[in-house]
Amino acid sequence: MRLLDASGIRKVFDLAAKMTDPINLSIGQPHFDVPDQVKARAIEAIEAGKNKYTQTQGTAELRAAIARECRDEFGWDDDRLYLITSGVSGALVLAMLTLVNPGDEVLFADPYFVMYSHLANLAGGICVPVDTYDGFRPDAGKIADAITDRTRMLLINSPANPTGCVYTEAELRAIAEVAAKHDLLVISDEIYNLFCYDQPFVSMASIYENTLLMRGFSKSYAMTGWRIGWCTGPSAIIEKMTMLQQYSFVCAPSMAQVAALTALKTDMSAEAAAYKRKRDMVYEALGPALGLVKPGGAFYAFVPAPGGDATAFVTRAIDNNVLIIPGNVFSSRDTHFRISYATSDDQLAKGLEVLVNLAS
Ligand code: PLP
Repeated sequence: MRLLDASGIRKVFDLAAKMTDPINLSIGQPHFDVPDQVKARAIEAIEAGKNKYTQTQGTAELRAAIARECRDEFGWDDDRLYLITSGVSGALVLAMLTLVNPGDEVLFADPYFVMYSHLANLAGGICVPVDTYDGFRPDAGKIADAITDRTRMLLINSPANPTGCVYTEAELRAIAEVAAKHDLLVISDEIYNLFCYDQPFVSMASIYENTLLMRGFSKSYAMTGWRIGWCTGPSAIIEKMTMLQQYSFVCAPSMAQVAALTALKTDMSAEAAAYKRKRDMVYEALGPALGLVKPGGAFYAFVPAPGGDATAFVTRAIDNNVLIIPGNVFSSRDTHFRISYATSDDQLAKGLEVLVNLAS
């Protein structure tokens, strides 16, 4: 626990506490609400008494529905195991505690989703962030150089938080080649898979067998508070994660498991198109002005801070009522800031205007 540190984000929230009605570009969740039919299905499930523990691995119906999706997407027709988790966070906790021994090294790109470093530390692992500045593209050569005989896994996240970077098939193949050479497990966190704007989404699971695939409902269907996600991969790992879930989370929320069946049938392309448009707004405002690399997915942009000191720039933005997050929350560097554009066009336009004015 001593290695866990929340000081970066706490400082931002302390500053934000003084703001009245801020333009909030810091939120890591969709600004749209859960689709109506998904809400209705959850209410129906509660009223029908689906309020008890489910099987630890999740209901047979939901696992079968996800297996069908995977058969369509990956052509899998095997009897692979699926585990329904309490969000992708739940899957990450189970995976880290299952797989990482003290001293094991966990590789991931820097900048990274904050949970990766904290969970790897919690499990006694050693974080090995692989620098991806300034373009945030994964470099298989750098990954290969970072591998040692203590490397336990490679954790990838495309589309990425906080950079919005989407890995190309060629990049994934290059990473897979390195992983295969060292017989390494790849955890692929694909929680933003529906938000991919310029190219079809490619999953590491379609390329590399030894992948632990994680997806969720939080971002795709705005179900962040419902705590539901899923995971599949090598059976021996899924079995152990399931056992650990039995002694920790027990199961994912029962009514959310029912509602997820409806979510899977819900078309979210309008929401994805809206975020693509917002991505374009952000890029138009900040790309040329601040040298932002165009993000290809998720709903984040990771922007070079004018003056090079992100915390100083974020403090000025907060003084001007715009809430953004400094890069040191997601990185060993503090040179960029993260914008979330999961907000209304009006709020986004106002926030961008403030940021552009501050930068000039
Ligand atoms: N992975 C990434 C990259 C995220 O950004 C998040 C949430 O911000 C999560 C996982 C956790 O999502 P969930 O709500 O499914 O636990």
